[in-house]
Amino acid sequence: MERFVTLPDRTKVPALGQGTWFLGEHKARLEQEKEALTAGIQAGMTLLDTAEMYGSGRAEELIGKTIAGMDRSQLFLVSKVYPHNAGRKNIFKSCMASMERMGVDYLDLYLLHWRGGIPLEETVACMEQLKKEGKIRRWGVSNFDTSDMEELWSVPGGKNCAVNQVLYHVASRGIEYDLLPWMRAHHVPLMAYCPLAQGGDLRRGLYQSKTLQTIAAAHQASISQVLLAFAVRDGQTIAIPRSSRKEHTLDNAGADRLILTEAELAAIDREFPAPTRKVYLDIV
Ligand code: NAP
Repeated sequence: MERFVTLPDRTKVPALGQGTWFLGEHKARLEQEKEALTAGIQAGMTLLDTAEMYGSGRAEELIGKTIAGMDRSQLFLVSKVYPHNAGRKNIFKSCMASMERMGVDYLDLYLLHWRGGIPLEETVACMEQLKKEGKIRRWGVSNFDTSDMEELWSVPGGKNCAVNQVLYHVASRGIEYDLLPWMRAHHVPLMAYCPLAQGGDLRRGLYQSKTLQTIAAAHQASISQVLLAFAVRDGQTIAIPRSSRKEHTLDNAGADRLILTEAELAAIDREFPAPTRKVYLDIV
């Protein structure tokens, strides 16, 4: 990998990682999914994103099976705690269970999956305790809009947040209006989820876009690679595409070498304009 993002504590992580939502859920596909994740790791996508929510722990188990025997220090493992578990009563159990499913004794990054009823102060205090105990190296948040980040910054220890993971792709650029500028000003890197716009109509629209097709053809690249190169273009964004197929995973890793020109970015802006007013967070 040639593109890296520097976290607030100066740790460098690859700008392209791998998501795991919906993976590990069907026995018949486990081997294929394991192969896909392994190929991605070998290609340098050593950052793996998961959550206790995904398949009720089965995505974490798949990661455990995939990384067994690998050099743990070369991997960057991210998991997420359910909001209802993100307090003193459950977070320590949740974190331990995630680590056990992955067969590791620490997480590189632990995220609050989205905001729930537990006060931020309590979640942050627990995250800091997990850090002190060596269970996690750092923590962050997910699905936090600008007002949530501001509130987090007002909580003791809140400024130790390492990333905010939110939905971001060519056709969903709402965060560029105020959340992304806020995060840049406060040195909080973005983790872009659904960088390939997942599935459905929106996705079909993107893959049929003449603009994206022309750019892809000019670089002998795939549309997915153009979407990923767009997502990570600022050097402060980590994109976490998910694939269950080795050929797609390798295609995604190839986006590392694709640098879009100013003219291509301008063409993307014309077809998929950046927001000119506040847009509330897009969430899946
Ligand atoms: P995504 O990565 O945008 O899209 C995944 C889809 O793209 C899959 O259907 C996959 O199918 C396909 N795909 C992958 N690479 C491809 C390629 N090179 N060419 C063609 N198709 C390709 O969607 P996502 O899984 O929703 O988002 C990515 C990750 O972000 C998740 O897995 C999860 O880790 C994280 N996430 C976080 C949150 C949150 O609330 N924090 C929410 C959503 C997602 P194949 O399997 O057939 O390749």
